Amino acid sequence: MSDLTRPAAPRVIAIANQKGGVGKTTTAINLAAALAEIGKRVLLVDLDPQGNASTGLGIEPTNRHKTTYDLLLEDAAPVDVIQQTAVDGLFISPATIDLSSADMELVSNEKRSFLLHDALRQVAMDGFALDYILIDCPPSLNLLTVNAMIASDSVLVPLQAEFFALEGLSQLMLTIREVRQSANRHLRIEGVVLTMYDVRNNLSQQVEADARATLGEVVFRTMIPRNVRVSEAPSYAMPVLTYDTASRGAESYRALAAELISRREAQLRKGA
Ligand code: ADP
Ligand code: MG
Repeated sequence: MSDLTRPAAPRVIAIANQKGGVGKTTTAINLAAALAEIGKRVLLVDLDPQGNASTGLGIEPTNRHKTTYDLLLEDAAPVDVIQQTAVDGLFISPATIDLSSADMELVSNEKRSFLLHDALRQVAMDGFALDYILIDCPPSLNLLTVNAMIASDSVLVPLQAEFFALEGLSQLMLTIREVRQSANRHLRIEGVVLTMYDVRNNLSQQVEADARATLGEVVFRTMIPRNVRVSEAPSYAMPVLTYDTASRGAESYRALAAELISRREAQLRKGA
């Protein structure tokens, strides 16, 4: 029975691909910013020990007093971990290198795969009144990524429009299937988004054609172009949506947010 005294649960989306450098963090930051821009309340959980999402949103390492590590393994209160960013409605649970030891500690922890799930569903999260939680996963299929998948409603996969893009995807899909069979049967694939797309490059077009032929409808119509403003924005500690609001990169992430929402509405109409 649903608890009418609690606000509607936020939609939790893991942004995952075990390859590094494919645009996970960039997508996490800018999709989160695009959702916040249209009035959604969004939490970005930085689950990568490299802490790139935290840096990209202007949370200096010295200001990461309590982090995702504390949320997972130290029972830290959400209010002590989660910080407001410079973007209205966008919050972050920052990460530091501590998280790399978390992966080891998780192995010896009984409820190890459910730590993020439980942390995000505790009553103390309600005060944030979130609409979305996006999880920026590390470039690996380790226990942190499994935690993300168990905590999520869906997985969004950035795919770099580059040679070998599709390689490794079957392993990712296998992990998703395993999580579905063991711990989270509701986990779905939110979609695959092509990143760093270059229209003038035959290779980009080839990767797109392959991806659409192999994966079909799960590939978003929206593609994120390779755009220098997107890559500059993190060094100014801003999403590209604020750094250069009219850039192609910013527009493409707004389009991705709109497509994500309209797809979800279509699924709900179909009763999914
Ligand atoms: P991951 O989190 O998967 O490792 P990142 O999001 O950190 O990948 O992206 C890897 C690199 O590619 C970063 O330097 C980032 O700035 C750059 N990058 C990502 N998306 C774009 C884009 N659309 N245009 C240009 N550069 C991009
Ligand atoms: Mg990253």
